[in-house]
Amino acid sequence: QTITPAFAQQSAKAVVGAVRIGSNECWTGPFPAGAEAAMLIVQQGNRYEPDNNHAKLFEAVNQVEGVPIDRITAWPGSSDPLSRTAVTFASPERGIVTADPTYEVLWRTGDWIGAKVTKVPLTADYRHDVKAMLAADPQAGLYYICSPNNPTGTLTPIEDIIWLAENKPKDAIILVDEAYIHFAGAPNAARLAVERDDVIVMRTFSKLFGMAGMRLGLTFCAPELLERMMRYDGMQVINMLPMTAVAAGTASLTLAAQIEARRNEMIAARTMATDHLKKRGLSVLPGSRANMFMVEWKDRTPKEMMAALLAEGVQIGRSWTAYPKMSRVSVGSAEDMEKFCLAVDKVMLG
Ligand code: PLP
Repeated sequence: QTITPAFAQQSAKAVVGAVRIGSNECWTGPFPAGAEAAMLIVQQGNRYEPDNNHAKLFEAVNQVEGVPIDRITAWPGSSDPLSRTAVTFASPERGIVTADPTYEVLWRTGDWIGAKVTKVPLTADYRHDVKAMLAADPQAGLYYICSPNNPTGTLTPIEDIIWLAENKPKDAIILVDEAYIHFAGAPNAARLAVERDDVIVMRTFSKLFGMAGMRLGLTFCAPELLERMMRYDGMQVINMLPMTAVAAGTASLTLAAQIEARRNEMIAARTMATDHLKKRGLSVLPGSRANMFMVEWKDRTPKEMMAALLAEGVQIGRSWTAYPKMSRVSVGSAEDMEKFCLAVDKVMLG
């Protein structure tokens, strides 16, 4: 599929005033300490780096994740390093293997550079089918694991990722995209990016940390991999980062109790909404550990439901080719999800 500006615009378009549960954003902004740190640093916006801010961010990451500082890099979100990983480790000779459905940025970039893209269905319990992924292209350059997966919200166990790491070609790379891991509160793959030189772990502050518009992401990987990813702009990534985001991220990372509270708030809202849908006889894809779920609308298409719910002031997400009858709904605040349930009832029951 070709990426057109129209596609980019369509995916970013938000309906102002609607309940926005279409883009897997957080329902609220940065933690207060993060917002305050960002506001303070605005006064020093004339400096590329007011006060060793990158070092402070990396120290906070090291403290929370146990990743050595030479394996940590920060980015303006995780979309850039996702595409960069495709450009660096895939090629017309070495393909990309992803799950199906999954988040598309990586394979779309791979497709653009002429790499073979192989999509492998999730298992019956919606994990990445790592054995089938390896069998589908045993000589791929890049295997992409999105855990929790977008759009299903489901986790792939670390043991499965380790199995893939131990059985893939030695020079192939595994990219573990953990954009939603804070919502899962589950074991993460950071350790693999410390112990191995062929695994990249990717994080973003766009989700639980409520900083999608501020732009901050992280990668954990061996310095040699980073060097390869940075070839085309000479290690200048530091100058890409907004200092407001660096300051907010640093102040937010260590707030364990607030992170847990936000996760629990999301789980309560998700449970309330999915219970409601099930009571209405709709089927909800089980096992989501993230701020999203997929729902199938009896005799209506996702497109019809998206338009009908929007007419009621609720903007839900899209569907995926692999699951054409299902819509992805993001989890907003309790109030957002109550409005969503009311809108569903109005559309379906009249
Ligand atoms: N990875 C996954 C799985 C996502 O769902 C998203 C955004 O929705 C991203 C990466 C990219 O987000 P960002 O560039 O805001 O970090």
